[in-house]
Amino acid sequence: MYVLKFGGSSVASADNIRKVAEIVQASEASQVVVVVSALGGMTNELLALGTKAADGDENYKGHLDELRERHLNVVKSLLPITGQSSSLSMVMQHFNELEDIAESIFRLREFSLVTKDRILAFGETLSSKIIAAYFASLSLSYRWLDARNIILTNSKFTNAKVHMEPTMENISKTIAEFKEKIILVPGFIASNKKGQTTTLGRGGSDYTAALFAAAVNATRLEIWTDVSGMMTADPRWVSGAKIITHISFKEAMELSHFGAKVIYPPTIIPAMNAGIPILIKNTFEPEAAGTLIDNEPTTHELDQDIVTGISSMTEIALLSIEGSGMVGVPGTSKTLFETLAAAQINVILITQSSSEHSICVAVDVADVEAAKEALDISFQSEISSGKIEPIKIERSLSIVALVGDKMKSHPGISGKMFSVLGRNGINVRAIAQGSSEKNISAVISFEDVKKAINVLHEAFFEKVYKQLNLFIIGVGNVGSRLLAQLKQQREYLLHNLNIQLRIAGLANSRKMVFSDNGGVSLDHWESALQEGHKYDLHHFTQTVLEKNVRNAVVVDVTANAAVAGTYKKFLEKSIAVVACNKIACSSTYEDYMQLKTLSKAFNAPFFFETNVGAGLPVIGTLNDLLRSGDEVLKIQAVLSGTLNFVFNKYDATESFEQVVRTAQKDGYTEPDPRLDLGGTDVMRKILILARESGFELNMADIKNTPFLPASCFEGSVEDFYGQLKVHEQHFKKLYEDAAAQNRKLKYVATFEPGKASVGLEAVSPESDFYHLYGKDNIVLFYTKRYPDQPLVIKGAGAGADVTASGVFADLIKTVY
Ligand code: ADP
Ligand code: ASP
Ligand code: MG
Repeated sequence: MYVLKFGGSSVASADNIRKVAEIVQASEASQVVVVVSALGGMTNELLALGTKAADGDENYKGHLDELRERHLNVVKSLLPITGQSSSLSMVMQHFNELEDIAESIFRLREFSLVTKDRILAFGETLSSKIIAAYFASLSLSYRWLDARNIILTNSKFTNAKVHMEPTMENISKTIAEFKEKIILVPGFIASNKKGQTTTLGRGGSDYTAALFAAAVNATRLEIWTDVSGMMTADPRWVSGAKIITHISFKEAMELSHFGAKVIYPPTIIPAMNAGIPILIKNTFEPEAAGTLIDNEPTTHELDQDIVTGISSMTEIALLSIEGSGMVGVPGTSKTLFETLAAAQINVILITQSSSEHSICVAVDVADVEAAKEALDISFQSEISSGKIEPIKIERSLSIVALVGDKMKSHPGISGKMFSVLGRNGINVRAIAQGSSEKNISAVISFEDVKKAINVLHEAFFEKVYKQLNLFIIGVGNVGSRLLAQLKQQREYLLHNLNIQLRIAGLANSRKMVFSDNGGVSLDHWESALQEGHKYDLHHFTQTVLEKNVRNAVVVDVTANAAVAGTYKKFLEKSIAVVACNKIACSSTYEDYMQLKTLSKAFNAPFFFETNVGAGLPVIGTLNDLLRSGDEVLKIQAVLSGTLNFVFNKYDATESFEQVVRTAQKDGYTEPDPRLDLGGTDVMRKILILARESGFELNMADIKNTPFLPASCFEGSVEDFYGQLKVHEQHFKKLYEDAAAQNRKLKYVATFEPGKASVGLEAVSPESDFYHLYGKDNIVLFYTKRYPDQPLVIKGAGAGADVTASGVFADLIKTVY
């Protein structure tokens, strides 16, 4: 046997009731108990009606007419005309009775709990009788059962407690006598010993259903509602809430305790004790799998999901008792809880400060006055003697709770919860962690509850992408290759590293463009830049600072000194800097140190791996050696891709000038090739390596023996090429002298503590430098750990693609 319960929304209209009948007919069980709620919203309407009458408001009559109309209309649209009359008169009859009661309330101005239950019972009675008539019209085999004759309770009207034994017995005996396929039962209502109508508390139809399920030992209990299951948060507030396909009884109970009202907390108890699985299903999407609740541990979508769900209770109030008189005096909390229990007030949450100076309890707003009154009496003498301050009430509060069995074995969940709330400016009034550690709850202001649930849901359930906001200056050889690589890897980064790239700004020496939304398009950046503003470095810098976006990185792919001069401003604002521009790190030692210090102080990454050896992992390796305690003894290196290319290619057949021109055309040289050929570029690199090794060094400390005749350094780049032509014989001789001794020309940089030098050397075949082809670079690190056989890094040390990929790697490193 199955028990199916249909909530208010499922029976709110004739159309919905038709869906209910279809679901019941489609059930595979041979016999089903169908428990129904009142038409959606009716319980609240009936309460409002009674309150109006009790307040002496004549409008209760109009209200009553509306409710009557609503029921009559459902009958009219649900049943065939020929079969309507008996149901219409049934509805009229009930409303006549209801009218009499309402009139008495109006006259007496009294709406006692006993009367409340009389009135509320009309909701479920009417809905179940209308549905019965519909079943009859479909010729279904059914029997209507009055729950009041079956479910016996105490006399705690509006929230009655069930006498389990006689109730269970009544249910099983009665059902055993029935042969019909469907047993239709109004939910929520019951009666006491005297035969007076009682109700089981709001949401109590679930409880009725669970009692039936337990008594008949049903195979399962199905709760049909308007959502496709229990979700990670209330779907009305969190659009990304996800269905929990399978949850343990205990966790479901915890979630519903803190407001996930898709099921009513005590509902679970009879079903749980009897081990009956509960299935939450959607009347409006019956094919959806729904949520299974049983004894097995919750199935998490991902193993790393620690939290099962987030619930919230919107309208609560906080009562605080505080005072020095409480410290070390046992019994204060005993009195407190006994008082509240005697006043039948449900305590939702309790927190006590460790100093025992204060206790806070959260209660439903509807109970707060009664609670304060009871406590004022109990603590009368303590309050008047000043040991305890008058009891304080705070309203307009809400509770948000994280629920999950797995939380107890995972430290840091509450830390994350409160830092997420804090970061979003949500003030926490009180915190409680259930002793079972199945929930962590926070009392916050009612105004913050929506934001709180959403940010918590985002933090614990949604895949969070880290947006990397790039401001790129320079779109020459390296810059444009970088943009092409970013475009190519965009999807990979998103799916594999959860990094969302955004080009927040882009500039070259003529134009600049910024984009607030999706960023400058990686497909059309050229035209976007074309249409941008006139480039102005000061304006660019200010804009980056003002935008104040998260995870910002300024990427300098220029060789420009003015751009290098801006890093300080960015680092000071915690904006990361990635540079292939070497100027900053090879300027004065003080400037270099200032940038390193700012980077540390403001937690802003400053990476420049491509300053030495393009994409080769030279600086990163050096940093790793030092971090792990190694010390540099000597560095020897061939660090100029340009010079290597030139001397590998030059064999006096083609002119030296032509070879240098090719190097420039192929993108190996600095914009002014003299920086390469004159040794400045290599000096900068060895200087940076020395500094990164922990030594204070300046350009002036490096000995440079130039191989270019002095006249080459005069005038423009074209003048320089002219001078190369003039001095062809000089270069030819250098080559031929070396070749005669079976040696090759290499431009070598050396650093040892205290001295550094750069210059052209003719190396013999035994040298590590001899077999170095194309534009390769090589670095030999002699360190304490590598004293004789150096650590060697060798590979392509120039070229736009490898340099761009080195910059790319640095960019990604800023995220971690
Ligand atoms: P019924 O009328 O079927 O008894 P309820 O309105 O009592 O339905 O409960 C269903 C509602 O519970 C859903 O429409 C949803 O808005 C709300 N709800 C709150 N928290 C959750 C949650 N965690 N998962 C699913 N529904 C939730
Ligand atoms: N009609 C009652 C209520 O709205 C019981 C129920 O629907 O579960 O609380
Ligand atoms: Mg409900």
